[in-house]
Amino acid sequence: MSFPYDQSIIAFFSLFFYALFALFYFSLWLGNHKRIAGLGYWTINLVLQVVGKAIAISPLLPNTQFATVLGYVLTSGGAVCFYFGLAAFTNTSINKKFYYCFFVAFALLIAWSVHSIPNSYGRSLIYGLAVLFISTRYLSLIWKNLRSNPWFFKPFLLLFVLYSIMTGFNILRISLDVVALLRGELLETFDSPLLRINQFLTLALLIGVNFCTLMLTNNKLLSDLAKESQEKDAAMEKLKVTAEHDRLTGLLNRGALDAYLESLVGQSKESGRWLVSMVDIDNFKAINDTYGHEAGDLVLYRLASIFSSSIRKQDTVGRWGGDEFLFILKDVSSDEAADLVRRLHEHVALFDWSGALHLPGLKVCISSGYYLYNGNETKTEILRITDSNLYAAKQQGRNQWVGS
Ligand code: GH3
Ligand code: MG
Repeated sequence: MSFPYDQSIIAFFSLFFYALFALFYFSLWLGNHKRIAGLGYWTINLVLQVVGKAIAISPLLPNTQFATVLGYVLTSGGAVCFYFGLAAFTNTSINKKFYYCFFVAFALLIAWSVHSIPNSYGRSLIYGLAVLFISTRYLSLIWKNLRSNPWFFKPFLLLFVLYSIMTGFNILRISLDVVALLRGELLETFDSPLLRINQFLTLALLIGVNFCTLMLTNNKLLSDLAKESQEKDAAMEKLKVTAEHDRLTGLLNRGALDAYLESLVGQSKESGRWLVSMVDIDNFKAINDTYGHEAGDLVLYRLASIFSSSIRKQDTVGRWGGDEFLFILKDVSSDEAADLVRRLHEHVALFDWSGALHLPGLKVCISSGYYLYNGNETKTEILRITDSNLYAAKQQGRNQWVGS
């Protein structure tokens, strides 16, 4: 079996790609480290890989035992950093101390093996087992977080597939190392076609892995943006509801009623006839004076709920201001108009005010001035007519309705 590239060429390409990714991640970290956890660890991993590869191909540090051990220490340190990055990104709590111990134990073991084991199959086996361990940690963490956020699903899935391939290949290599060791074969230098293929494949897969983490970073930003925009929409919606409603009664306020009336006036006559009714509580000042302002508030609140439950689906009621309410009733014929207003009065009159509000002797009456729109008046004219009808109702002794 032969492989066309020697280890220094593979190391050179690794250096080139890792350096490129290190620059990407560093610039991403500069701009986004507060938003995205893990970028710092991923940058450190790439920097360690770059230094490791630089040592491997540097003529300044020839292939000494020290350079070999240093290369392993940097690579494995990077691998642990990558795992810390994944944990930080996914907000998964891990026992970091354990991984520091793993790193130190691996460094010592590799240093010992470089010094004491002449057969490179032994070192290859130690290295393979360490890579297998950390890869299974990656796979488990990625699997647990596969569905943590729909934006992360695809990059996590791809990452899982890539690490599965890498792990599969690593297991194959470990098995071959074991077979070679059992057969008593000797590998004098840490170089073989299989090792080269493994290093080449690892490079290709790690490029893919770094693309995946770039995708994760990008999708995290997009997901944050989407979340922020949803939150803003919800806040705007809440603000709109607050701006359009009266705080005490929960009904539409004058501004919202005014805008609705304006929109109705602009509609064609075919959209059906509608009725505007202005309602005012009779002698409300006296209720306030007798029972107190809080009792007056309760009356307004109860009246609002009576009104809301008395109207039909297509109708609208709101608080015009003070003790005045405005009704806009849709699809009303001239025969129905007075009847609808009368029924509202009936609901108010039939309510057990003193019993429900625990205010002995309390009675609430209303007066109404209404107008059935005939398609010609402006909003101001409609309001003026309803107001003067209400005034007429008050003048005629209150507790009645006057329409035109
Ligand atoms: P009328 O039959 O002529 O309408 O007599 P009235 O006493 O009801 O007179 P008017 O409608 O002019 O008085 C409205 C009163 O409503 C005056 C004000 O103190 C009271 N009022 C306005 N807003 C509130 C409120 O939010 N809570 C309470 N408790 N009272 C309010
Ligand atoms: Mg009043």
